Amino acid sequence: MTGAFADEILVGGRWRQGTGEPLETRSPATGEVLAVLRGAGAADVDEAVRAGAVAAADPGWRDLLPHERARHLVRIADLIAEHAGDLAALQTADTGKSINETRALVASAQGTFRYVAAALETMEGALTPPRGPYLTMSVHEPIGVVGAITPWNSPIASDAQKIAPALAGGNAVVLKPAEWTPLVSLALGRLIMDAGLPPGLLSVLPGPGAVTGDALVRHPGVGKVSFTGGTATGRAIGAVAAQKIMPVSLELGGKSPTIVFPDADREQALAGLLFGVFSSSGQSCVAGSRVFVHDSIYEEFVSELVRRAGKLRVGPGTDPATQVAPMAAHAHRDRVAAMVDRAREAGARVRCGGRAPEGEAYERGAYYLPTILDGVPNDAPICQEEVFGPVLVALPFADEDDLVAQANASVYGLACGIWTGDYRTAWRVARRIEAGTVWINTYKQFSISTPFGGMKDSGLGREKGREGILGYMRQKSVYWGLDDSPLPWAG
Ligand code: NAD
Repeated sequence: MTGAFADEILVGGRWRQGTGEPLETRSPATGEVLAVLRGAGAADVDEAVRAGAVAAADPGWRDLLPHERARHLVRIADLIAEHAGDLAALQTADTGKSINETRALVASAQGTFRYVAAALETMEGALTPPRGPYLTMSVHEPIGVVGAITPWNSPIASDAQKIAPALAGGNAVVLKPAEWTPLVSLALGRLIMDAGLPPGLLSVLPGPGAVTGDALVRHPGVGKVSFTGGTATGRAIGAVAAQKIMPVSLELGGKSPTIVFPDADREQALAGLLFGVFSSSGQSCVAGSRVFVHDSIYEEFVSELVRRAGKLRVGPGTDPATQVAPMAAHAHRDRVAAMVDRAREAGARVRCGGRAPEGEAYERGAYYLPTILDGVPNDAPICQEEVFGPVLVALPFADEDDLVAQANASVYGLACGIWTGDYRTAWRVARRIEAGTVWINTYKQFSISTPFGGMKDSGLGREKGREGILGYMRQKSVYWGLDDSPLPWAG
């Protein structure tokens, strides 16, 4: 044990030290070391996958009826609910996120297990229309062992989003959480095992992506990888999956446009924009990080946005009043600062922020002020590259066709926000924007019942929704001959 945090990882049903390199996890608020773990090495991955394959093939799991398997998921949800306060505090310690946000993420994880349990109980197969003297049906079966790889920005929610449907599909799961933030994923692993999940069905293997993650993706015993993270990593994982002819789902990065039309409700748009980009300190795949404002209201609207951004409360995640908490790691904060500095050198106007806050309270934390830039064209690097920090770039637009072209001129296609009082404008633009999710007069709202995923370089496949479970299953067609006489060809 280091401090209050366990230093064991979950390998094929056993809690023990990993065989990989030491992994240090630090508080983003103070820089202090929270825990040092021995991470998982390739040997641990192998052990976890083998144990997973055995556990998934065990009739005690494989042959469970959907409503029986659903009971496991409900028990997990109950335990998450029971330990919600501790889980939120742990995630705030490890990721720096504000306590209000981590409470919401724990609630989301709990809700995910409950929703998936309900979806599983009510899932239906299909009898397909017969085209001959036979009955045809389509059934779904477990894949076996699923590799789940998650990033550091919202660990418990993104872990649950993969573990719940993968277990519902009858699989074993090997989870590889991000190296910066393993603690809450390990705590979730403890609760899941305490809920009575048969050993071997879940492993939690923190470790470096290039070692532990890579070994997991390449392991011949892994039948699917579900990945959330950056586009470059996703592309590399997709290439390995192509070689293995293995299904893969990729939830990747974004540079999402939000659009403010002159007839928008100003208060709603201002509040939505601030929340959409500065909550989670901008460390959100769907952060509305490019705002297009109609030129008839541009200066007035952006000035007010800047004024309000300057009033956001920047502070430690443990303070319930905090709106903008530290970033997840000091190295990440420095990367964000360097991107803003490059934009400034390239001619961007810094309307607010553009630096770390000053004062003793901020000295040791990975803080960065909410930042708004403008004065650069849409093809500037700061408008095209994902910053993954509290940085918004504002651009004016005059004409709808030009707006749509600019909004779509991005390799990404994850999300979009539209602020307008006219439902026809909203509908027209929503259908023309290349994005997996469009929010109209709201932003960054999520529902487990609604499919989520990206277009273009933002990803492949969809999570959530009733169909989310099917993404973790293999489809099989069955023909039942109903004719008494032999097939005519041979005779
Ligand atoms: P990352 O790609 O660096 O890492 C994500 C995970 O992949 C980590 O667990 C990491 O250890 C692992 N990894 C790294 N290299 C690997 C490899 N070669 N093989 C296997 N695994 C490997 O991303 P990050 O910096 O942790 O997270 C930020 C990124 O995640 C941003 O781009 C963000 O937009 C994206 N993200 C997307 C979504 C979504 O749902 N679309 C949600 C959250 C975050």
